Amino acid sequence: MKQHFLSAPKVIFNRRQLLAGSAAVAALVAMPGPLSASDAYRFRNGAFDVTVLSDGEMIVPGSFIAQDAPPSQLKEALSDPEATNPMVHLKTNIPLIRHGSDLILVDVGAGSKFQPTEGLLLSALRASGIDRSSITKVIITHAHPDHLWGMLDSDQRLNFPNASYYVGASEWTFWTAPDVASRLPQDFRSVVAETQQNLSAIKERMTLVKPGDDIVSGMRVIETPGHTPGHFSLELDGGDGLIITADAVSHGVISFKYPTWHNGFDFDSGVAIRTRKALLDRISKEKTKLLVYHLPYPGVGYAEVDAGAFRYLAAG
Ligand SMILES: [Zn+2]
Repeated sequence: MKQHFLSAPKVIFNRRQLLAGSAAVAALVAMPGPLSASDAYRFRNGAFDVTVLSDGEMIVPGSFIAQDAPPSQLKEALSDPEATNPMVHLKTNIPLIRHGSDLILVDVGAGSKFQPTEGLLLSALRASGIDRSSITKVIITHAHPDHLWGMLDSDQRLNFPNASYYVGASEWTFWTAPDVASRLPQDFRSVVAETQQNLSAIKERMTLVKPGDDIVSGMRVIETPGHTPGHFSLELDGGDGLIITADAVSHGVISFKYPTWHNGFDFDSGVAIRTRKALLDRISKEKTKLLVYHLPYPGVGYAEVDAGAFRYLAAG
């Protein structure tokens, strides 16, 4: 199998290296998501029925998502004062949303070519009794591997053959540019070919969206750039309101308590930090419910102001 991985210093995304590791690593690889229908977290928000599925988890060094963190504060944030470079387990929470006759997925997970602890979405759908051909809409928040590479099966066919696809206009422009590799940090360039292949596979079925657009009635695209140039989030009407974000925040302590720490996955750190602070400021003031891709399953909760920054309060 063709392997793709990001290889930033001290970051191991290589399947072979992970699989060649210790028994502890083998145990991590075996980590299941909530794979039965009764385990899946569900809630209703206005006209939307939301079920949170899991694609598994992505394992990265904490120092990579908090690059300028003082080591002692990072250890405390990761609740592991003994470790020199603790790994963080970023869950991958994928909302499956029923709205009228639509069945909508927000992102499609990593598929089989990224980390071996990911790629569980199709299993999770099956366990929930959902036929993948019944998905009517797929929304791609941004084109990073852990959100996009689950698009195709091993024969390069669409995993969701009957869906319409929604991609941010500026995200599409960025990733499909012939010179995109030269605009990315060296360590991210290996993902370009696979990413472009996934995007080109949906070209005929895709609607480009921009901030303010409705995908269905009551579900709006909101601008949250920085993580990638066109990274967007979704705002859903009903209840307390609901904001679904992929990677504007990515860790339950680091992103909330230290929103100005530089995340190595953010393309434009300054813009990403402004986005993160503005989003947390807004949802803490408005008490809006939040659903986040990489927080501990199911990633549903609230933010509140705490000591000049924020604190995450899990609801699920
Ligand atoms: Zn991500």
